[in-house]
Amino acid sequence: MGYTDFGGAYVGPTQNRVLRLAKELGLTFYYVNEKELSIDYRKGKRRMYQGTIPPVWNPLVLLDLNNVMREVDAFAKLVPVDAPWSAERAVEWDSMTVKEYISKACWFSCTASVMRLAVSSLLTSEPHELSFLSFLWYIHSGQGILRMANITNGAQERKFVGGAQQLSERMAERLGTRVKLSQPCIRVEQTQNGDYIITTKNNDHYRANHIISAVPQALLNRIEFIPTLPPLKIQLIQRIPMGSIIKTMTFYKTAFWRDYGCCGSVISHNGPVVYCIDDTKPDGSFPCIMGFVVADRARELCGTTPEERKKTICKHYVESFGMKEFMHPVNYAEKNWMEEEYSGGCYTSGMPPGVLTKYGRVLREPFGDIYFAGTESATYWSGYMEGAIQAGERAAREVLAAMGTENPSNIDPIEPADADVSDTFIGPSRLELMLPSLGALLTLSSIGGAVIACAVAYKYI
Ligand SMILES: Cc1cc2nc3c(=O)[nH]c(=O)nc-3n(C[C@H](O)[C@H](O)[C@H](O)COP(=O)(O)OP(=O)(O)OC[C@H]3O[C@@H](n4cnc5c(N)ncnc54)[C@H](O)[C@@H]3O)c2cc1C
Repeated sequence: MGYTDFGGAYVGPTQNRVLRLAKELGLTFYYVNEKELSIDYRKGKRRMYQGTIPPVWNPLVLLDLNNVMREVDAFAKLVPVDAPWSAERAVEWDSMTVKEYISKACWFSCTASVMRLAVSSLLTSEPHELSFLSFLWYIHSGQGILRMANITNGAQERKFVGGAQQLSERMAERLGTRVKLSQPCIRVEQTQNGDYIITTKNNDHYRANHIISAVPQALLNRIEFIPTLPPLKIQLIQRIPMGSIIKTMTFYKTAFWRDYGCCGSVISHNGPVVYCIDDTKPDGSFPCIMGFVVADRARELCGTTPEERKKTICKHYVESFGMKEFMHPVNYAEKNWMEEEYSGGCYTSGMPPGVLTKYGRVLREPFGDIYFAGTESATYWSGYMEGAIQAGERAAREVLAAMGTENPSNIDPIEPADADVSDTFIGPSRLELMLPSLGALLTLSSIGGAVIACAVAYKYI
């Protein structure tokens, strides 16, 4: 029997809590295949290269892209992960969309296109939907744009043998009958003595003196709170929509793309799948390409049937890989997260302009004895499984501190690095840090030109 991951799947260096939990639960990983070459597909043209991020050959475009990536990482470091609203330029950055930043910062359309791809695949929202401050905060919490985007040494480096669902399953096994499935909470009511009564959709009732909510915050809207949540929380949860994604798995008889020297990764500027990765099992069984259909591309495909999506995606693979074999899958499976009632979309919520500065403070703020977890409330790898674990452990310690059994200064301790997972530095090289921006180069060349013209004029006139 095979398995496939329709939701969170990849784990990488610096995601130390998920690595620790995996060890504790006896789970192991395998490496995502990136041995052969990747493909960058744009406007019908294919370029093959080694690694995850496509190299740029045109020196002017290189300077442009280098400058934007370097600037985003540098700006991100100026945004405190636990208080992004306190960054010096918070109001300015939270008043603009990522699209506005890209239009201002990129000289070339291909640089802008790379940035649009990076934003939509990292956040499953379009750049015009997201506040630039929230993007910078997300990048900082995910340890930089390269760490987040890369396979080797990045967030997509490894997968769980047997699937990521085992994390929840094995924790649930330990908790036994205390885990109640298919019991959505519909009401949280505080009683006269301060306890809470939780009512589920099937009209079961549970009594608690502390509550941790790990429900995506946008979905808190569907739960009735008595007394009602504070005004800023009520407003926040109306303003953080979940991202849009369909995760697709297309299975083939063999991993034939490897015979052509391709590892299975394509970054595509056009077509339904923004990014695909080889999902063949480590023993070579179930040859498969995993494809992410995100943001507007996902919304556009929502009106089609799975069978139509399968055909569209296979056709896209034929064009982007340049291999006609992709038209003949042996199986196709997908998960449209937008139709998942109790998720509302994925990977996480996207923050439009104005939200983080005006409402960010209440993301984690407890309400009475109700504490808030969930990956969007994390400060480290927010939007990822790592963030969900950090937030869950933080909320659990907040409860213990309220009960007097945990030191309040130890609510969110730094997680030690996993000794078995190398986290080699990933970021701009010294040369990349020193290269001028295109604007600076043009200014320098015009000053240089003016100096030469003056020297010539001085000599001959
Ligand atoms: C397609 C996809 C790919 C992803 N890829 C990766 C990846 O490769 N690596 C990675 O680290 N992360 C990835 N993620 C993100 C990762 O899955 C999330 O960050 C993580 O699951 C968030 O955990 P959470 O506990 O905060 O929320 P969820 O996992 O969303 O859990 C929230 C839970 O709350 C339940 N719930 C909702 N409403 C109620 C209610 N009223 N009452 C009771 N329960 C309720 C839901 O059913 C759900 O079980 C991916 C996500 C998706 C969808």
